[in-house]
Amino acid sequence: METSVLVINCGSSSIKYALVPKDPDRPRLSGLAERLGSSDARLKGTDSQGESFEQPLGAADHAVALEAILARLDGRLPVAVGHRIVHGGEHFTRAALIDDDVVAAIEHTAALAPLHNPANLEGVKATRRLFPDLPQVAVFDTAFHQSLPPRAYRYALPEALYRDHAIRRYGFHGTSHAYVSRRADALSGLEGGGWLTAHLGNGCSTCAVWHGRSLDTSMGLTPLEGVVMGTRSGDVDPGLHAHLSRQLGWTIERIDEVLNRGSGLLGLSGLTNDMRELEVAESEGHAGAALAIEVFCYRIAKSLAALSCALPRLDGLVFTGGIGENSAMVRERVSALLPHFGLQLNHTVNAETIRGREGRIDAGGRQLWVIPTDEEGQIATETRQRLEETAA
Ligand code: ADP
Repeated sequence: METSVLVINCGSSSIKYALVPKDPDRPRLSGLAERLGSSDARLKGTDSQGESFEQPLGAADHAVALEAILARLDGRLPVAVGHRIVHGGEHFTRAALIDDDVVAAIEHTAALAPLHNPANLEGVKATRRLFPDLPQVAVFDTAFHQSLPPRAYRYALPEALYRDHAIRRYGFHGTSHAYVSRRADALSGLEGGGWLTAHLGNGCSTCAVWHGRSLDTSMGLTPLEGVVMGTRSGDVDPGLHAHLSRQLGWTIERIDEVLNRGSGLLGLSGLTNDMRELEVAESEGHAGAALAIEVFCYRIAKSLAALSCALPRLDGLVFTGGIGENSAMVRERVSALLPHFGLQLNHTVNAETIRGREGRIDAGGRQLWVIPTDEEGQIATETRQRLEETAA
């Protein structure tokens, strides 16, 4: 009997999917439908023989793309669908079995994530139409951080903004921080460790995890807060917006665009948001690339040091995400900025731990881990858990 979960991550013009079997030794089928809504939509992926394919979809929308994805599952009908939903607000503290009320509650939180939640919901609605009898579960990026105490999630703003408008810190990348911290617990043999996790991809965030619960994290009301990212600024002076508006006459749309898409590694370097290219450019003497990497690493270390206040005990650091898993240089520079944590990097093992390899990279002292994230696997696991609880 098929026991796979179909994981769907639906963006405004793309759908990422993965058919995740319960048995980790069985291969996953995965792929990406992109350019949806344009005239040259396409579907790329791997089939059950491990062969890559690419299929034009014409002017497909989300529903057409989902049908094409279904046809690529080689007749393996999943037992459930797990949807990645970016924002669950305060309503969702864990994964939820989707019904009309859950859809309405996700719609209600759309004001908090106007770019993401409506696109995620389109996927939910189209999938429910396609598979009306299949259980569907919503897994939220914010849910893992609902364990934050008020001292970590409240902004020092008038209380009414929290009470009446839900303005507080939520945090994101929860699926990834949950997965790597649990994996660190398992690999280290600690029952419930105190971990600082750094998810460093295009989006970047840090998190303090104690006994499997998030106690603080670097992202806030939106994924713009916190450390420096590929094209996002991370923390800036909150007075910057008023300054840009008054002095340069910038509109709120322009400010939003620059902080989200023109800043971060790209803005600092004036070159690219891609860490691989920045590493090469720095070695060739590009000053902007060198500055971007220096600011990036310093701000991560500073964020980890700040988050250590949330933990009763610090057992170690975990690096994940495209940069965290692959850039030995970033791991080395971040670790070097935290000597008071008692970190001793094993430089040889660090240099060898790349391309999605799991590994312990310290030479004693506090633990340092590289753990490739598995958001799809975690969404499938949470989907299964929710179904089992519902059936019990
Ligand atoms: P997303 O957040 O979109 O899922 P990823 O987790 O794949 O992104 O991370 C993308 C980042 O990882 C990019 O900045 C990319 O340059 C970086 N990256 C990928 N491979 C390497 C590598 N070998 N060395 C340094 N950086 C890398």
